Amino acid sequence: MKYPAPRPSCSAADPMFAPLFTPLQIGPVTIRNRFYQVPHCNGMNRVHPSAMAQMRGIKAEGGWGAVCTEQCDVHYSGCHPRELRLWDQHDLPILARAVDEIHKHGALAGIELAHNGFHVHNLETRAIPMAPSLTPTRSNAPVMAREMDLQDIRDVRRWHRLAAINAKRAGFDIVYIYAGHDMTLPAHFLSRRHNRRTDCYGGSLENRVRLLRELVEDAKDAVGDRCAIALRFGVDELIGSEGLSCVGEGHDVVQMLAHLPDLWDVNISSFENDGQSSRFSEEGFQEEYIRFVKKVTGKPVVGVGRYTSPDRMLWLISTGVLDLIGAARPSIADPFLPEKIRTGAYDDIRECIGCNICIASDKLSVPLRCTQNPTIGEEWRRGWHPERIAAKDTGDRVLIVGGGPAGLEAAVWLGRRGYETTLIDRSPEFGGRVRREARLPGLRAWQRVVDWRLEQLKKDRHVTLLPNNDVTAGIILEADFTLIALATGAEWRSDGIGRSLTQPLRGVELTAIFTPEDILAGRLPEGRVVLFDDDHYYMGGVIAEYLVERGCDVTFVTPDSLVSSFTTNTAEQPRIQRRMLEKCSAVHVSTQLIEVRAGEADLACVFTGRPRTIMADAIVLVTSQVPCDELFLDLFAHVSVGPRVVRIGDCYAPGTIAAAVYSGHLFARTLDNRLSDSPPFRRENTQLDWDQRFPEDMGVFRGCDRNQVLERNELGQ
Ligand code: ADP
Ligand code: SF4
Repeated sequence: MKYPAPRPSCSAADPMFAPLFTPLQIGPVTIRNRFYQVPHCNGMNRVHPSAMAQMRGIKAEGGWGAVCTEQCDVHYSGCHPRELRLWDQHDLPILARAVDEIHKHGALAGIELAHNGFHVHNLETRAIPMAPSLTPTRSNAPVMAREMDLQDIRDVRRWHRLAAINAKRAGFDIVYIYAGHDMTLPAHFLSRRHNRRTDCYGGSLENRVRLLRELVEDAKDAVGDRCAIALRFGVDELIGSEGLSCVGEGHDVVQMLAHLPDLWDVNISSFENDGQSSRFSEEGFQEEYIRFVKKVTGKPVVGVGRYTSPDRMLWLISTGVLDLIGAARPSIADPFLPEKIRTGAYDDIRECIGCNICIASDKLSVPLRCTQNPTIGEEWRRGWHPERIAAKDTGDRVLIVGGGPAGLEAAVWLGRRGYETTLIDRSPEFGGRVRREARLPGLRAWQRVVDWRLEQLKKDRHVTLLPNNDVTAGIILEADFTLIALATGAEWRSDGIGRSLTQPLRGVELTAIFTPEDILAGRLPEGRVVLFDDDHYYMGGVIAEYLVERGCDVTFVTPDSLVSSFTTNTAEQPRIQRRMLEKCSAVHVSTQLIEVRAGEADLACVFTGRPRTIMADAIVLVTSQVPCDELFLDLFAHVSVGPRVVRIGDCYAPGTIAAAVYSGHLFARTLDNRLSDSPPFRRENTQLDWDQRFPEDMGVFRGCDRNQVLERNELGQ
């Protein structure tokens, strides 16, 4: 089947959206429109400075009026291991580079200054962490933060002031004081939970807000002539009167400082609340908490809420909920979102699906990645652009078998390159695993992965879409393709092999066994169900929820000590564990599934081996996946000369949807999936004495790393 005539890539801009493109004065600077990329972490930071700078620059190119850095430590005593730093002038070159990339495209550059107080352990710098009151540092490191004296407070003020002056030198237009997410000293001072002081910085709210007020005043005094001073503030911690709330002290803080900063950047705290995934929140989920702010202050207000709908954005501005549409994740999923609204290309907006893979990359300290936008984090390293791709440079005619996320992504970008491409799937509808998984509880927004790609393909005359076609090796070899990509996916195992079981589970032939595919195909277990999760990401949890919603009595068993433990990286884990505890009949963590038989399952503690037997009419195994590569093996057996055959996505290596999309994109760019001897991307190496010791290797550096190294040297590092 071929879709009808290609449509233009954009229609005329709708004048209705003009309010989103009116400039706004923020203190001494003017933002060109209402699209504001708020500070967000990205896993690149000071370790991958060129990659970070280029990523920010692309956002500016995509039309964001302001583009901010992630948080930036002002001092080594409050040092976040995964963020930027501005301890003194030696850190300026990295930051100046980001500023230049942002300014190149006409956006304002913002920097979020931070001192992380007792949120960090300072393991790198070995400085003793500081807090308003004596306390252990966050999480589980055996480190205490000492109580700050008045000299410490004066020091913290001075360090912020110096950092603000240096930020101005680097060229920043907006300088933040950061009191959000319960992560920084001014937030810690504000909190009755953390601040037990009896001096003029503790006790009453007026005292607890003192440090925050002073930091904003100091910054205004130091750089306010040329830089706007923004205050990032979590107005509600979602713990009622125990913490800040939009009807309590959060509200009062805004009232007390209403006219002090040039910009209020407001959200909810902690980070897990602010960064909620779509499984737990809808677009605009923060509005009920932050909408009071504009009623209290006359200063511009920016807020976030995974906004991707132009209508919703317009409504926010027109009704006075916000002055600026803040975005982190929507700007990652589509760095060109503002430009697409400006040019009327609404259907081309690649909407964030709220999966939080981006957050996981930061937590895992690897360059930013995104399910919807595989080019993020690769702008400098591989030279990928989110909207542009090189025209075709071979004469290949391409067949892609499998229209899941990998196949769809490959088809979109091969089509844009001008390759005649045919995308085939045996199903009547494209989308593969995404179409199925989006029916699971809380995952509806994931369907956007399919919708965006099908929308793009409808407009591409180079791509032919053939659903309802179950192809075999024979059929493929008869056709006239020179390059074949197999994106035939993967399926969950039914023998229990996974991370902890390396041999098939004993007794699987004696009882009713189900996999996620069975359940998604409508084959549901009955009676008492034991769900064994040895995968540790989202699937075990959402399948359990799905079964409970259909009346099953589910016992959740996992060898890990947390439910869905990987989701600690996607800021979802506590919510998932709570949901499992509320919905399942029982949750057994640190527990291995040993053996099953009709009516029963044997479990054992992973630490002691202590056994127990529970009743089980059916077993659901969420353990690991195997590629559906029969077609590949069949082709491989028959092809000695002829078309090149490449596996992509889950058929090559089962993984996340983000990995499948990336694999499809990589294939579209390179027409291959083979590993090269040297990395096919640039690295940010520090130059030591390589020239002297290995002069013959210097050619290697010339095209890539060395340029960057030289620039850094020239800047005085
Ligand atoms: P990925 O995540 O790698 O994109 P998916 O499992 O989402 O993989 O999608 C694989 C798609 O391949 C499914 O939609 C499936 O219907 C299709 N498929 C698998 N084998 C064949 C085949 N022999 N002929 C046509 N389509 C196939
Ligand atoms: Fe949105 Fe997921 Fe991309 Fe993050 S990774 S920006 S949540 S689509």
